[in-house]
Amino acid sequence: MRLALFNKGRLGLVDGDDIVDVTERLTGPGTPGPAGALHHYIETTAREGAARIDLSGLPRIPLAEAALEAPLPRPGKIVGAPVNYLDHKAEMEYTTSIADLGVFLKANSSVIGPGQDILLPYSDKRTDQEGELGVVIGRTAGHVDAADALDHVFGYTCVLDITVRSGEDRSTRKSFDTFTPIGPWIVTADEIADPDSLDLRCDVGGDTRQRTNTADLIFGVRELIAYTSSVMTLHPGDVIATGTPAGVGPLSHGDRIVLDIERVGRLEVGVDGVRAVPYEQRPGRRAR
Ligand code: MN
Repeated sequence: MRLALFNKGRLGLVDGDDIVDVTERLTGPGTPGPAGALHHYIETTAREGAARIDLSGLPRIPLAEAALEAPLPRPGKIVGAPVNYLDHKAEMEYTTSIADLGVFLKANSSVIGPGQDILLPYSDKRTDQEGELGVVIGRTAGHVDAADALDHVFGYTCVLDITVRSGEDRSTRKSFDTFTPIGPWIVTADEIADPDSLDLRCDVGGDTRQRTNTADLIFGVRELIAYTSSVMTLHPGDVIATGTPAGVGPLSHGDRIVLDIERVGRLEVGVDGVRAVPYEQRPGRRAR
């Protein structure tokens, strides 16, 4: 199933060209917290057999008329995989890969949803797109073996790991507000037999910049979960951005970014540079 948030936090199941409002059916009454109704569902009831949801009698609207939102507006954590494709390692002239670097964290406040805009922070520093397969954890994972890793996955989504090319730590350069577009929905794991064999394409301004298959990941999804869970416990609703292939490049005001992942979905966002300032004018600059 494809599960989404839409129309101010409603939980929807995409059924053909419609979206069915399953908020009450899946999460019961009450107001979900800031992590949203889908996160609440993943945390509480997703393991109880969601694959057989009875949609009869539930309200439905055409998908085209729904305002889709980030399916997980505030994940518990967002784990990133640096240098996890060999062709990206080559284009950046990195001498190390994920095997040396480990993983990094992005602020969960950086999430936006489909149709929203990435805000460029600096007028004179590159801000790049990184199109990535996103893994959503469904079951608490600590020190899991690669062979068991996929049992801990709730589903998959598209993630853009937006990045400023400057000298700060990754956690700073990748954590500006709006720097983690997610969506347009989460496809449950039962629909993706092998996450390490998905075509991925990312277009910016109508030009295809990135084209790969997740078979080319250095740490595949299973290995990435095993490694990450050896460092930090992964909780339901946590998101892992699995890394980006070659073809990262600078974003400009007015660009449209389209990330398309086979059997997962198509995420489209805009780019807004109106509030970008010169790097030297950023708060906190110190002459030492
Ligand atoms: Mn990345």
